Amino acid sequence: MSKLVLVTGASRGIGKAVFLKLLSMGHRVIGTASTEKSSQLILDGVENHDQCFALYGDLNNPKTTMAHWADAINEKFKEMPSAIISNAGITRDNLMLRMTDDQWHDVVQVNLNANYYLVKTFLKPMVKARTGKFVFLGSVSSHGNPGQSNYAATKAAICGLSRSIALEYGARNITSNVISPGFIETDMTNELTLDQQKSITDRIPLKRYGQVDDVANLASFLISNESNYITGQTIHINGGMRTT
Ligand code: NAP
Repeated sequence: MSKLVLVTGASRGIGKAVFLKLLSMGHRVIGTASTEKSSQLILDGVENHDQCFALYGDLNNPKTTMAHWADAINEKFKEMPSAIISNAGITRDNLMLRMTDDQWHDVVQVNLNANYYLVKTFLKPMVKARTGKFVFLGSVSSHGNPGQSNYAATKAAICGLSRSIALEYGARNITSNVISPGFIETDMTNELTLDQQKSITDRIPLKRYGQVDDVANLASFLISNESNYITGQTIHINGGMRTT
């Protein structure tokens, strides 16, 4: 069944793969990026633009950005998304004692506070329609990772947010789940040094990074009706890395 789906952070990496996968499955898909320039990448490689829409807005100003996205979506489609993949995210790595206030606050703003405003904006129409699906991108780092206390804290918090939505709105037929990837080959992981990359792949039982399509396949399942009885879960996709 074709849905109207919002995918944040769809200009590259995991979000772009999710965007393309959902389009290929016949969904109507709205992708977002932080700037007008990067939003042009969202529609790169897409032949038929009838089924999709590219938006931009900075999640450092999440309240304004969400209001703008909701207005633009309503104007274009005359309806609100029935599924949302909240994928946009950033890292600003540093050891705790060296971490700057800006590094801490930027990550909390984009990875966590923006999700508060996203849910506040798009949950109400879902409740009214008595159907909806949220999928948030967490991370294996939510269990703690040296140099990523800011990032780990936000990704752990997302799990709490998602489970709470699942508990509060399950009776309204709204599901909420987290995809928790391990190391996936994207710009985010390409920033690591070769030594760091080797030490990571040594810890992965499958001995390689995951691909963006691995995550896109799971995301497309979680917004489909085939996953209607799955809610409040964190689903790990990490090549077998330990998560406890
Ligand atoms: P990526 O390649 O760095 O792409 C990040 C996306 O988020 C881009 O579309 C970017 O838009 C958007 N974004 C970043 N800052 C933004 C802001 N201030 N306002 C609006 N949009 C913003 O990331 P990725 O590696 O695909 O990761 C996607 C998600 O998966 C993230 O939540 C990440 O934490 C999670 N994750 C990734 C991995 C991994 O190994 N890659 C592992 C675990 C979890 P612009 O192009 O405009 O900057």
